[in-house]
Amino acid sequence: MSGVRGIVHVHSDFSFDCSTPLARIKDLAREKGLSFVVQTEHSNELTAAAHRRFVDEARALRDDAFLMMPAVEYATADNRIHVLALGVEPFWEDLRLCPPERLGELLDRIRDAGGVSVLAHPERANAIERLAPEVLDRIDAVEVWNGKTDRVGPSPRALLEIIRRRRGGRPAPALVGLDLHRVADYRPVGIRVERRPESERDLVEMIRGFRYECFIGPLSWDASSCGGASVVAGRLSKAALDLARAAKRRLRR
Ligand SMILES: [Zn+2]
Ligand SMILES: [Zn+2]
Repeated sequence: MSGVRGIVHVHSDFSFDCSTPLARIKDLAREKGLSFVVQTEHSNELTAAAHRRFVDEARALRDDAFLMMPAVEYATADNRIHVLALGVEPFWEDLRLCPPERLGELLDRIRDAGGVSVLAHPERANAIERLAPEVLDRIDAVEVWNGKTDRVGPSPRALLEIIRRRRGGRPAPALVGLDLHRVADYRPVGIRVERRPESERDLVEMIRGFRYECFIGPLSWDASSCGGASVVAGRLSKAALDLARAAKRRLRR
């Protein structure tokens, strides 16, 4: 696929834990030759008024060569499960710290609004194990690699979930997300689509319809058709990362 590249799961100063202005992210996109950015602000401290400003600012940055799609990353009240809501116009302030027992309602609302729900960083806080199977089943797509949580390789449990769904005859889009909070942490990991998205809706439908592939540097990866070899690679990279993190913790003590 030639097409154009973009990045998914990016934060700006509309998120409580980030200080990067949206305009700086557009500059980054231009520097890196990206045609779109899926901007996913944390729901945690977001208000409806701030969300309105966020959407307006993101859309004002759009031009003939660049699309910034505003979206929200909803957190549960215990902050352990995060769900990206792509292609959804309203912000639901009542679910900004979603009680875990209302996750199903959040997913229903995303679907009714024509959006796509994505389970973010399934390995973080064991999110994928905490989800009731019937709730996990209703999430449209899975982030199989997250820049902050997984860092060096794909999430083995996320890949197994993709394989499980495919075996059940129900493919799920597998996405890679940078979870970018600082421009300095940028890495060339994102998705490539066949042509420049004409609108936010166009981009959402490309994701829903598997009309994209993931890229990692110069490599392309059809993560939605991943197999056992990817799971092994994910297990190895996760083991190496867990060891490195444990060593770092020991050094700090
Ligand atoms: Zn998150
Ligand atoms: Zn995030």
